[in-house]
Amino acid sequence: MKIGTPKEVLKGEARVAMTPDSARQLQKLGYDCVIEAGAGVAAGFTDAAYREAGVEVVKTAAALWKAADIIAKVRPPTETEAKRLTKGKTLISFFYPAQNEALLELCKDKGASVIAMDMVPRISRAQKMDALSSMANIAGYRAVIEAGNNFGRFFTGQVTAAGKVPPAKVLVVGAGVAGLAAIGTATSLGAITYAFDVRPEVAEQIESMGAEFVYLEFDETQDSAATGGYAAPSSPEFREKQLAKFRELAPEMDIVITTALIPGRDAPKLWLKDMVESMKPGSVVVDLAAERGGNCDLTVADEKVVTKNGVTIIGYTDFPSRMASQSSTLYATNVRHMMTDLTPGKDGKVVHDMEDDVIRGATVAHQGEITFPPPPPKVQ
Ligand code: NAD
Repeated sequence: MKIGTPKEVLKGEARVAMTPDSARQLQKLGYDCVIEAGAGVAAGFTDAAYREAGVEVVKTAAALWKAADIIAKVRPPTETEAKRLTKGKTLISFFYPAQNEALLELCKDKGASVIAMDMVPRISRAQKMDALSSMANIAGYRAVIEAGNNFGRFFTGQVTAAGKVPPAKVLVVGAGVAGLAAIGTATSLGAITYAFDVRPEVAEQIESMGAEFVYLEFDETQDSAATGGYAAPSSPEFREKQLAKFRELAPEMDIVITTALIPGRDAPKLWLKDMVESMKPGSVVVDLAAERGGNCDLTVADEKVVTKNGVTIIGYTDFPSRMASQSSTLYATNVRHMMTDLTPGKDGKVVHDMEDDVIRGATVAHQGEITFPPPPPKVQ
């Protein structure tokens, strides 16, 4: 069978789902590889590099979608792309089936199978395919880099002949994958880092990365084991306590990175206008939750705004794409691991084993049927 990758069509998307290296691995699984001309250029992979790796380069998107039995891409397909699917083809991409019902219906009607990389169950065995985590890791790192790029001072404290420089204080709100990456990056640059999460079990991880966990005096704790490791909405009383703590911290913090999310909901508003107003001029807020409405009241998705009191609020939603070479390499590896599991015979033939927890969880359409939502995984 042929596995093919088109050029991403979303404006500004620089990632690509197949790299020359991943293509070499896919060929070892028995597949022929094909790519649309120019698909990897924005991520630093030339057509020549693909050819050298044994990949066929085709001129147009139409030719690519026609030639490939399996289409691997990054973003969910556009309607035009989905219409190019035919019976028996398999699409592998981020898909967000809960938010893209009509698109899922269209793929089902076309008789294609759809594997949503965002639906890979978060169990140990599937970590190598966990594209949400690989992208969140990059976003967390890049959030600190963007903050530093907009912050007029050092992260680390220094004593120089020209005077003493205090270290920057960084607060990370939400310590999931992106938050922990941001903590690691800020700490390694020398900042004094604080972090808060509603899931008390992450305190140890936060502290092991050199940051201080911001404790709330509150009896209620979240039992996130009941929600698959994810956070649930907080009670109004807890939220008030949390906001009061943030109000206390806001005037002291130089950089605030917010990453708080609850599955299936808009981002909780946690860094409010009055907190921004009490921050020092020159401070920076990076809102990694911008795509889901933002954790900060004043965030504008995809924009950088500077408030009247001189605080920069960054709401970019394309952090992984801003590091397209790295993110493409990791994403293509996640896809390749998915293909390994889909190819037990290493013979270039997809075997769609719906008894396999990981394949079942990620498959949202199969043989003319919608297979989302999946049953909960049997193995942890
Ligand atoms: P996410 O991006 O969905 O959310 C980010 C963080 O925001 C979470 O830590 C969440 O607790 C926090 N949050 C939510 N509401 C908040 C609030 N009001 N205030 C402060 N923080 C708030 O999370 P994620 O990075 O995708 O990870 C979530 C969970 O999944 C974690 O437990 C993580 O360890 C787990 N996980 C497991 C695996 C695996 O393979 N085993 C892989 C990745 C993640």
